[in-house]
Order: sequence, then structure tokens, then C-alpha cells
Amino acid sequence: MRLGGGRESRNVEDRRGGGGGFGRGGLAVGGGIGGVVLALLALFLGVDPGVIMSGDPGGAPPAAQGGGGPARQPPADDPAARFVSRVLAETEDVWTPAFEQIGRRYEAPRLVLFSGAVQSGCGVAESQVGPFYCPPDRRVYIDLEFLADMQRRLGATGDFAAAYVIAHEVGHHVQNQLGVLGRVESLKRRAGERESNALQVRVELQADCLAGVWARRAQEARQILEDGDIEEGLNAAAAVGDDRLQRRARGTVVPESFTHGSSAQRVRWFRNGLESGRIEACDTFGAQQL
Ligand SMILES: [Zn+2]
Repeated sequence: MRLGGGRESRNVEDRRGGGGGFGRGGLAVGGGIGGVVLALLALFLGVDPGVIMSGDPGGAPPAAQGGGGPARQPPADDPAARFVSRVLAETEDVWTPAFEQIGRRYEAPRLVLFSGAVQSGCGVAESQVGPFYCPPDRRVYIDLEFLADMQRRLGATGDFAAAYVIAHEVGHHVQNQLGVLGRVESLKRRAGERESNALQVRVELQADCLAGVWARRAQEARQILEDGDIEEGLNAAAAVGDDRLQRRARGTVVPESFTHGSSAQRVRWFRNGLESGRIEACDTFGAQQL
């Protein structure tokens, strides 16, 4: 990616190291699912926070700051944090005019860098759950070390693979702003588990598509892509498909339990956004076939 001269977002909060003081032992995550399996299944990209977070079951999470101390900017000599800030700035520079086009105002999300565990507006989360978006506090949470490690293990390498992950999480924020997440949540409250999973798959594939829309528009505006970037993104989308993750984790695949979509579906929707650059191309809820 060519982000070298790009703007850095001021919406990154650095809560890595020392800030939180959370003991690892006391954090319940995952509702009884074993840690490693959960890490692989929940991995990446918009795990449903209600499922993975500890905290008051059924209660509304606090909408405010999310805890963890005052917001601190990452240090200037941290290349990984600067990369995140630049990608986040790219999402702001794409979604702000895109919202204007549809008569809306984009309120940029904040992005929290953390290590180990973090207090979010959705409860306490450990890094093993992967990057996630918390709708009530409108923040994206990423543990960069965990992300890099998982990307290596899954073979989803390259800077654009990381950008895809960030863009996917920001895609959830776009969905939140457009009211999609709220509508889906109310549908889920009346749905059984199977139906609820199917709804979540459409949410996740739409976020993949929005990540593609972002990449296309950023490319058109500022030529951010280099040779191989598209392949890195498509490869990353495939690497985090539920079928592939389940096969890695337990050797079998249970489609009814999918919450993010298969590798083929994730690639297809990311590509839909990438090739069209249009939000309208991301109607996973109206699609007959995913
Ligand atoms: Zn997601």
C-alpha cells in the first residue's frame, strides 16, 4: 500500500501496556466455549460482542468512554500504530464524502489499540477474540500483536490484509450509522439461534463488501494500492471464512453455525464492493444467494 505521505487520523487511542491493569485471570470471555477454539472461531472481524464479552448479561452496556483511562495518542515512532492511523484516516476520507452523497453526516469512529485485554462499552474483552467493533461506544478495538500473529498463522499476510481487517471493522461502524446493526439486533431478539447466525452472516458479508467499497474509493481518490494488494485482501477474506476456520479448529464444518460466511462468500462480497465501489452493491440482506 502507498500510505507514506498520507494523513494520520487523530481518532486512534493507545491503551496498550500498563494503562488498564486488567488481570488476565478474572476475565470471563466466551460463555463456556474453550479459549483456543473460540479464538479461531470468533477470530477476526466483528465477532458479535454480545457473545464474546463478559459483563452484565442482557443489560445495556455503558455508552460512554469505555473505560481504560484517558485517551492517549500512539507514539510517533511506532510504525504499526502509524499504519493503523493512516488506514483509519483513509476510511474517514472515503466515508465522509460517501455519506454526504446520500445526505448523511459521517461521524468517524474511534479506534482503540490495546494489548492483552480491554474494557470496552461492550464489556471486557481479551485479545484472543480478535479485532472487534463495539456499537454502543462506536469504537473499533485491535490488539496489533495478536492480529499480526493470527495473520501469520492463517497465512493472511501483507499490509493490505491488515487494512482489510480495519476496513471491515469500520464497515460495522458504517452499518451502525446507517441503522443496519440496530435493525438486525431487534430481529435477532425474536429469532432462534440458527436464524440469528444467518442474520449475522449477512451483517459480516456486508462489512466485507463495505471494506471493498472503501478500497475502491480510496484507490480512485489517492491511488493507495500497489501490485499484489488486491490479492492480499482477497486472500485475507478467504483465510477468515468460517469453513476454513472451523476445519482448522476442529476438522469438521458446520454451516448452520457460521456467523461470518464461508471463504468463498467473503471473497465474493469483498470483491462486489471492490469492483463496484458502490454501497448499493452491498445489499446482503436482499440477496437471494450469498
Ligand atoms: Zn465483522
